[in-house]
Amino acid sequence: MNLRGLPSVEQLLQTQIAAELIANYGRPLTLQAIRSSLEEVRGRISKTGETTLPDRQNLLAQAESLLHLWTAPTLVPVINASGVILHTNLGRAPLSNAAILSMEAVARGYSNLEFNLETGKRGNRLIHAETLLQRLTGAESALVVNNNAAAILLVLSALANKKRVIVSRSQLVEIGGGFRIPDVMRQSGAKLVEIGTTNRVHLSDFTEALSEPCAMVMHAHHSNFKMIGFTEEPERKEIADLAHKFGVIFADDLGSGSLLATERYGLTHEPMVQESLAAGADLVCFSGDKLLGGPQAGIILGKTDLLAKIKKHPLARALRADKLCLAALTATLLHYLKNDAEYEIPIWRMISATPKQVKARAKHWADELGQGEILANKSTIGGGSLPGESLPTWTLALTVKSAESFSEKLRQEQPPVITRTENGRILLDPRTVLPEQDGALLVNLANVLQSQKHKDNP
Ligand SMILES: *Cc1c(COP(=O)(O)O)cnc(C)c1O
Repeated sequence: MNLRGLPSVEQLLQTQIAAELIANYGRPLTLQAIRSSLEEVRGRISKTGETTLPDRQNLLAQAESLLHLWTAPTLVPVINASGVILHTNLGRAPLSNAAILSMEAVARGYSNLEFNLETGKRGNRLIHAETLLQRLTGAESALVVNNNAAAILLVLSALANKKRVIVSRSQLVEIGGGFRIPDVMRQSGAKLVEIGTTNRVHLSDFTEALSEPCAMVMHAHHSNFKMIGFTEEPERKEIADLAHKFGVIFADDLGSGSLLATERYGLTHEPMVQESLAAGADLVCFSGDKLLGGPQAGIILGKTDLLAKIKKHPLARALRADKLCLAALTATLLHYLKNDAEYEIPIWRMISATPKQVKARAKHWADELGQGEILANKSTIGGGSLPGESLPTWTLALTVKSAESFSEKLRQEQPPVITRTENGRILLDPRTVLPEQDGALLVNLANVLQSQKHKDNP
């Protein structure tokens, strides 16, 4: 086959279609796409010996699909109908309206991020969240970094490099994605001193380890697992008092670190930030996007002298929070200060939704779709908080031919819908679906149900 019959790049570029592609995608990328299409065709023809050459329109259509593919965003919103409230793979906490507005305002232009408006001189980015955190928790001082893993790394690097840090074996957790707290800790140069056994650690184990010089006793929340049976761990206050007797810092990695009392929502009590400080923790760290319901961040609270050392460490600069994070975080913290967190922060709205409210939404979905059963089930908190804890919920259950192919189809919709499969049925939990996504969810469900019907009766 004579490939000379193919149009040249120049010829293709001079068409009206190419002009439109250039307008949409820019000249360099369009040029690349046209070259790739031509190359692909040449390669294919010399391999298969095809006898017809594609025409200009064909080639340009191929270029257009390449352009589409290359520029499609990879990070897109999804509808979380899984019933897992803090789904780490789905981006953890959705932000409140105020947090989004605050981020947008700061993103759009300049801000006083590190500029003191009173003096007209250089300011400090830390003050934006610090005052709020002090007021909310009573902490002497605060620092916000990129995430909680960074907070732990920074605390240990600044205060325990080359020094001994005591940790109970019952708290050496893996937080998901293969990341282990002890590995992060070791990275700081601290020497881990593991005490106790997997299920039991006694105050005497701490006393024994404290008899040799060390920098810190580290307490880590179990987060994603539950200890039951023959178990024992001393209370925070007992450990803090003991550490202080030896002149050693007591640091508490709370993981989720709730500012609200979870038992008010029918859950077990998740350790609260205020409680840990009151129990005598010199340092407390927790995530911004778990039960706080804000942006990804790591928050370190505690004694002024310790925070001063931490803030001066070079890693503090490397791990610092950016302006968008600080904007969203301060807006989120304000909800707690004004006591409207339960109504304004999406994850707290989800946690506090009553089974009756959830059931009404599931029922509405079923009515709109004209199918499905309403079944009692459980929503979970997720995100390394409240392991094994769940909230009674109601789901819309769809009986489909193949749950696997149905859920795959739902993931291909715009926006993709993430569901749960149980006993071969597709379950959709209204608790984790934002109310403004109801319309899109129903359209996408109807689409997939319709396509399956066509497949069944061709
Ligand atoms: C989740 C968690 C972390 C890590 O927090 P990120 O904000 O995800 O970095 C650390 N420690 C504990 C106990 C956790 O639960």
